[in-house]
Amino acid sequence: MNVMKTLLLSELRSGLWVTLKQFFRKPVTLRYPVEKTPQSHRFRGLHALRRYPNGEERCIACKLCEAVCPALAITIDSDMRDDGTRRTTRYDIDLFKCIYCGFCEEACPVDAIVETRIHEYHMENRGENIMTKDKLLAVGMKYEAMIASDKSADADYR
Ligand code: SF4
Ligand code: SF4
Repeated sequence: MNVMKTLLLSELRSGLWVTLKQFFRKPVTLRYPVEKTPQSHRFRGLHALRRYPNGEERCIACKLCEAVCPALAITIDSDMRDDGTRRTTRYDIDLFKCIYCGFCEEACPVDAIVETRIHEYHMENRGENIMTKDKLLAVGMKYEAMIASDKSADADYR
């Protein structure tokens, strides 16, 4: 039987038949990065710190995000400002420690720390894994429109 199979190339023809059938089907793969899959507005990617429309930082340095982070990825220092409000003087997230669980975003009472949909980023130098307050605020400023729209799409479920 095996000799017959070998002589008739039946296994090779079975394989080619599978290839031929697949050839006329809709592809299940995408040509990333030219093509991309749809993304949920709940996608948890790169973090950002948000500001209010008047430019004021949302974060009130309550440190709930730091306390809830299971990976101990967030480090916050805070101080009182002259106007008596409390603000962070340091807000670092170590992206190498972060497991992108979203707990920090869930815990924040003022929607200050969020996880954006940005997932295409990289680091080239040592230390770039630390997202400092300035970097987080810059991401927040740049993508505020997308963040606000994603938040409003999820508002009914929060
Ligand atoms: S997403 Fe999770 S692991 Fe990452 S900083 Fe937030 S709470 Fe910590
Ligand atoms: S980001 Fe939110 S939870 Fe974290 S310290 Fe600021 S206000 Fe509190």
